[in-house]
Amino acid sequence: MHPVVVTGSASGLGAAVRRRLERDGRRVIGVDRHDAELLADLGTPEGRNHALEAVLSASRGALDGVVSCAGLGPYEDPVAILRVNFFGALAVLDGLREALGRGREPAAVAISSVGAVFDALARPALLEACHAGDEPRATAEVGDCDGTTAYANAKRALAQAVRRRAPQWGALGIRLNAVAPGQTETPMLERLLRDPAHAKAIRALPVPLGRSAQADEVAAAVCFLLGPDARYVHGHVLFADGGVDAAARPDEF
Ligand code: NAD
Repeated sequence: MHPVVVTGSASGLGAAVRRRLERDGRRVIGVDRHDAELLADLGTPEGRNHALEAVLSASRGALDGVVSCAGLGPYEDPVAILRVNFFGALAVLDGLREALGRGREPAAVAISSVGAVFDALARPALLEACHAGDEPRATAEVGDCDGTTAYANAKRALAQAVRRRAPQWGALGIRLNAVAPGQTETPMLERLLRDPAHAKAIRALPVPLGRSAQADEVAAAVCFLLGPDARYVHGHVLFADGGVDAAARPDEF
């Protein structure tokens, strides 16, 4: 078996994914800004290149899985959110695709968000710049957005990028899916709830199951998509959101 890369492995959801994989006997290569095997800032091109080179060296160029989980919350600077949550997340997936091609039943999972589905927040010009891979144009487009809008568009572009890659990745025998979590009890959610405006926005979105997720409940969905039980699941966005998406958009699927 080859290792599995988890970005954002030092905290919250990434740490929960790591625990599950290790419990199942998998070797995990964690990438984060702190408390990880490989330290890198995925918000910069240099940091991403460093992370990719270090992963390829640590894995000897073959991986069974990649989980692109590192992310910044909507309370951060909009440009930084876009750089990490879209460009950093996608650089890891695309940059490790070849190594996944040498893995056994390889699969990758990107962490999007249920916050990505709300059309009112979508900025078409920003999404287009993201899909063109044009980071300077995208960061210019995000300049007049608030953190919530930057976050929603970065996560929307990421889920779309996963679906757009299904034909190419499928032809290479590599499954690629996304998980869109709802509110999940991690340091990111704690910080959001401390801010009155963010807390109000979160409470305005009723959760049909009536509670937040534990990080391990979302990690279970991630590990399902990574593992052999999801052998025929590809190009999918799995909502681990307590029913928020279904309540907001019942007829979309
Ligand atoms: P968290 O803040 O607990 O963990 C995020 C991790 O990403 C941290 O360890 C952090 O150091 C790392 N990270 C941030 N910027 C980085 C960078 N530039 N380079 C490398 N690592 C970096 O948050 P979390 O809630 O566990 O979030 C994990 C993922 O889940 C994120 O992508 C987040 O957007 C997504 N998500 C979270 C929620 C939620 O309610 N918690 C909901 C939907 C989606």
